[in-house]
Amino acid sequence: MRTLDVELGPRSYPIHIGSGLLGRPDLLAPHLRGQRLVVVTNETVAPLHGDRLRALLDGHAVTWIELPDGEAYKTLASVESILTRMLEARLDRGSTLIAFGGGVVGDIAGFAAAIYQRGIDFIQVPTTLLSQVDSSVGGKTGVNHPLGKNMIGAFHQPRAVIIDTDTLATLPLRELRAGVAEIIKYGLIQDVDFFAWLENHIEALLALDSQVTTEAIYRSCACKAEVVAADERESGQRALLNLGHTFGHAIEAGMGYGQWLHGEAVGTGMAMAARMSEQMGWLQPAERERAEKLIERAGLALSPPPELTAERFHELMAIDKKVMDGRLRLVLLHAIGSAVVTGDFPPDALDATLPQSEV
Ligand code: NAD
Ligand code: MG
Repeated sequence: MRTLDVELGPRSYPIHIGSGLLGRPDLLAPHLRGQRLVVVTNETVAPLHGDRLRALLDGHAVTWIELPDGEAYKTLASVESILTRMLEARLDRGSTLIAFGGGVVGDIAGFAAAIYQRGIDFIQVPTTLLSQVDSSVGGKTGVNHPLGKNMIGAFHQPRAVIIDTDTLATLPLRELRAGVAEIIKYGLIQDVDFFAWLENHIEALLALDSQVTTEAIYRSCACKAEVVAADERESGQRALLNLGHTFGHAIEAGMGYGQWLHGEAVGTGMAMAARMSEQMGWLQPAERERAEKLIERAGLALSPPPELTAERFHELMAIDKKVMDGRLRLVLLHAIGSAVVTGDFPPDALDATLPQSEV
């Protein structure tokens, strides 16, 4: 097992990572204030891994809530249903909520914890690779609104994150690869040594070798924790975490949400960002090639789907731009391990990166 501390003053918390952690009540105990617990999970995760969590919580009064599976349920209605169950169970402010599932469950449940009686403790027990390296760390919680993704939410840091890598054994391969995309992202934006380590361990990671998986998650969480500690509420540096995301969002939206997984689109978006950085003379060709090679070895596509034209990209990216006060900002690379956010790039470099229309 490896443990990492997220340094946020009074809101600091540990992240425990390893195999078999759902069998370790001692990791949970220090973070439980009372006997009363509420578990929020979903219909997919509960039958696969719920027994181990139930055994871990033996002796506690547990309110067990299973949501339907899917991003479509990341709504205020789901939050309200959780709050109703908590009120019915007469849970007080000393109760603790445990979020047990992927990023969707973590975001919904974390938001319920943020607002129930103005905020109660919560613990993240993430079960997808993406949630283990990304969404469970950093304290962003929330739900979607019909007018926009993640538009309703709160910052609410967990008391602890407990990552049992054994849960990944049941994760579909596409979901695994989507998580690996976000792992590669950390190497690209700020840790060249981690990137080189991934070049040596990517196949072992995809095969879920226990030690390699623990190490990859640990180093990813360390990168995210460092960025979050420097910029808890995203006023600056935290935006670097969006490498590949502007292109990626265009792919996700353009193909219809759910067709491409978020991480799959981010993988392709990072390859596009690398090519654009090379166009601008920032990234050396050999480094661009290294970036593309690793993304490809992770089983992710280097190019967007052919049906998305440059015109369509421009339209879709204009939506992102509106959200950012009229200026399109992109995360680009000076080198592997060194990224910058910039709104100042030649339009030619962008055009050369988008799909070329046939002549
Ligand atoms: P997800 O939660 O939808 O999980 C993907 C699928 O895997 C679901 O069907 C889920 O039920 C299933 N699943 C979960 N654990 C499993 C397991 N161990 N075995 C088999 N199946 C399992 O998706 P995700 O990729 O984990 O998270 C995406 C969500 O996270 C999005 O809503 C996104 O907005 C959010 N997110 C939040 C942050 C943040 O900082 N809060 C960061 C990144 C992403
Ligand atoms: Mg992401």
